[in-house]
Amino acid sequence: MNAAKNRVIYLASGNAHKVAEMGALAERDGLGVQILSAKALGGMPPVVEDTGSFLGNARKKARALWEQAPPGSVVLADDSGVCVEHLGGGPGVESAYFAGPQGDAAANLRKLAEVMRGVPAERRGAKFYCLLLLIDEAGAEHVFEGECRGVLLEEPRGGAGFGYDPLFVPEGHARSYAELGEEVKGRISHRARAWAKLAAWWRAP
Ligand code: IMP
Repeated sequence: MNAAKNRVIYLASGNAHKVAEMGALAERDGLGVQILSAKALGGMPPVVEDTGSFLGNARKKARALWEQAPPGSVVLADDSGVCVEHLGGGPGVESAYFAGPQGDAAANLRKLAEVMRGVPAERRGAKFYCLLLLIDEAGAEHVFEGECRGVLLEEPRGGAGFGYDPLFVPEGHARSYAELGEEVKGRISHRARAWAKLAAWWRAP
């Protein structure tokens, strides 16, 4: 990828938090690329995330936006979720719809806290996983993955971030993603780790 060629990556997501996190990562890394939300292309087309895999869902989202983008555009999709040991890896790819098809983030968080209530410390392990799928200007796909291991709290803590952030304490930390805030999350998160791989690839000649 020649960074001089394309200065815009369209993010195939209607999630403003993902757009903000990705924008901050791109800016911090000095990639010289601007992350624009799907709004810049008239909005994210409706996509049913029903493939049962992070890769399949990311591909569906990226292709849907790529098809309505001007030829030669670069489009990126993020599919991510929290995988909980006690739940056999769930909700995983279904994280956005854990509490129902309406995709209510507050209800999802409450449900995870409830499901984990009373589960002993040794069974509270979890990881956040992020898969980034980029479609380059020629239509080729590039995949980057990142994960962050940690444990789930008994009660949500902290006001930053989004989704399940208030329940998740990353390994090596005593505070939740939502307490650590954007700067720390931007260094250690699943999304930051996947982004770091994308950034290295983007810079490569
Ligand atoms: P999807 O990638 O659109 O299927 O949605 C991912 C879902 O996983 C979000 O709705 C959140 O519930 C959760 N999720 C993904 N990344 C994060 C994160 O960084 N913090 C908190 N929750 C997240």
